[in-house]
Amino acid sequence: MNTLPTLWQRQLAEAFSSVEDLCRHLQLAPASLPLLPHCKEFPLRVPRGFADCMIKGDPNDPLLRQVLPLQDELEHYPGYSLDPVGDLSAMAETGVIHKYQGRVLLICTGACAINCRYCFRRHFPYADQQLSRQKLQQALAYIAARPEIKEVILSGGDPLLLKDDKLATLLEAVADIPHIQRIRIHSRIPVVLPARVTLELLETLAKLRQQIVLVLHANHANELSAEVASACRNLKQHRVTLLNQSVLLKGINDDSLTLRQLNEKLFSLGVLPYYLHCLDRAKGVGHFEVPEQQALALMQSLQEQLPGYLVPRLVKEQAGAAHKIRLA
Ligand code: SF4
Repeated sequence: MNTLPTLWQRQLAEAFSSVEDLCRHLQLAPASLPLLPHCKEFPLRVPRGFADCMIKGDPNDPLLRQVLPLQDELEHYPGYSLDPVGDLSAMAETGVIHKYQGRVLLICTGACAINCRYCFRRHFPYADQQLSRQKLQQALAYIAARPEIKEVILSGGDPLLLKDDKLATLLEAVADIPHIQRIRIHSRIPVVLPARVTLELLETLAKLRQQIVLVLHANHANELSAEVASACRNLKQHRVTLLNQSVLLKGINDDSLTLRQLNEKLFSLGVLPYYLHCLDRAKGVGHFEVPEQQALALMQSLQEQLPGYLVPRLVKEQAGAAHKIRLA
């Protein structure tokens, strides 16, 4: 029997997938923008709620800049590659990335609710890493055989895009492994599609015996709407620890006022600033890079303006390294 789509599934289906429609909604003329002629491999995808947080008529809106496919993506930058953080050489099993001691990452899906143009996994071969029933059993067996693994990270794509029953089955299977103490979820969905934080999802998370950490991804205070605040409140009430990771992006959040406002707003929603990532050098994203010296100066400014608990760690990921490299 077919069940009716829920609110978040309807919102997902109604997300903008055409640049022309998004421009019309924002009262912008597509012909006036240096748009990519084709972006079929990594298409535009923007939930309407996220688009509603953009300023109409402003082609440089910091939320729009994160999702608009521009000709800049065709520019060649030395050192940019298809696998900038060495994911492929760290695949331990299908769908299992094992880079760091004590934790592994599961690629749960290749899909996201939004397509961020700066994405470090925009070229990731998701089709080769799908966790079919059999591959999932192999992934779980890999984790179960290694008692030193204390934490499983659900990633993707966006793991919260899985339907409730599939997500619950996956979470319960991970939770059944005796030595797993923490389950971490990396998701941009509470920010870009907050209706996904349903009562059913909250109850699934609250039932697990492990500590649950949800690492959100917000880059600008304008992303944090009243609906996002409500989703965060509900998650906190269901004992989920909320952290945020941002990416430092040229023209979007590369000034200290924007970063200060972001981190203050996050904390007001019960979310601790965790990481500020230097851009991962994926092919096609070089125009978003902020030079390291500028990033360090921004951190100095943040440290002067904010209490320590509101200052995220500035990090970069280096393929093959045993941990993220902390710059400040
Ligand atoms: S939500 Fe995360 S994984 Fe998905 S496109 Fe954006 S940066 Fe990439």
